[in-house]
Amino acid sequence: MKIIETVSAMQAWSRAARAAGQRVGFVPTMGYLHEGHLSLVREAKRRAEVCVVSIYVNPTQFGPKEDLSKYPRDFDRDRKLCESVGVDVIFAPTNEEMWGKNGVGSSTWVEAAAVSERWEGASRPGHFRGVCTVVAKLFNIVLPDVACFGQKDAQQCAVLRRMVRDLNFPLEFVVCPTVREPDGLAMSSRNVYLSPTERQEALALRHSLELARRELAAGRTIDEVSAAMTSLIAGKPSARVDYIAIVDTETLLPVKRHEPGRTLVAMAVFVGKTRLIDNETF
Ligand code: AMP
Repeated sequence: MKIIETVSAMQAWSRAARAAGQRVGFVPTMGYLHEGHLSLVREAKRRAEVCVVSIYVNPTQFGPKEDLSKYPRDFDRDRKLCESVGVDVIFAPTNEEMWGKNGVGSSTWVEAAAVSERWEGASRPGHFRGVCTVVAKLFNIVLPDVACFGQKDAQQCAVLRRMVRDLNFPLEFVVCPTVREPDGLAMSSRNVYLSPTERQEALALRHSLELARRELAAGRTIDEVSAAMTSLIAGKPSARVDYIAIVDTETLLPVKRHEPGRTLVAMAVFVGKTRLIDNETF
């Protein structure tokens, strides 16, 4: 497994792989890898001959009051995990390599307007502009044929799918299912922030999604479902709802009525100081 730190070496490696007739699979990450990330690697390897994982904590997608400086990092552990699942290249650039000598930031930004506006976009201003810009850059650096993303970040998938379509990135955009801990908590690098009590109360996300499934199947209105979820979460002292979105899977606009297979229930909840997200399509 190779570790590449520069843009030019990464592009040269991918060009050589493609010239040799190999498709390049790509999994962008911020590191502190878990089984969710590894499931994306496995999917990329099913669809392409070689697999590149990027490990880069992108400052432009963090707000000024967010957890950029304390975001968990362990490159050595990540390297071993990547090796264990047969990753060919880790691309791990520095901020200077990504943004230049004058500091983090860009004159050119990529924004997928409508689909970015609500939910995560409203709670985290500038977040999706940072995500789109870094992912567009990474696509131009890694030159993938296939790129894999996790359904756990449902709105990110919708935003990036839109960007790929609007800007004609020549790649296959793949969304993989959310990987969960045995008790149902969606895996996340941020779960390490949780105290033992918060870890237990964080199950309210999962449980409220299960409640939504039952309530929708029983024909409750969208408002009733949302209220039931909110009250379940309110029962956990450390949890506070940021948003609960019951929306169309593609447009991410609120739905008036449940249409099986098209209703996305997505949520962000603070558990203590940690902001967690989860979603399911029903
Ligand atoms: P991150 O390192 O958190 O930015 O995530 C990198 C990629 O892994 C994104 O496409 C995420 O959606 C995906 N991912 C994160 N957590 C999970 C999970 N529990 N299951 C599946 N994919 C995930």
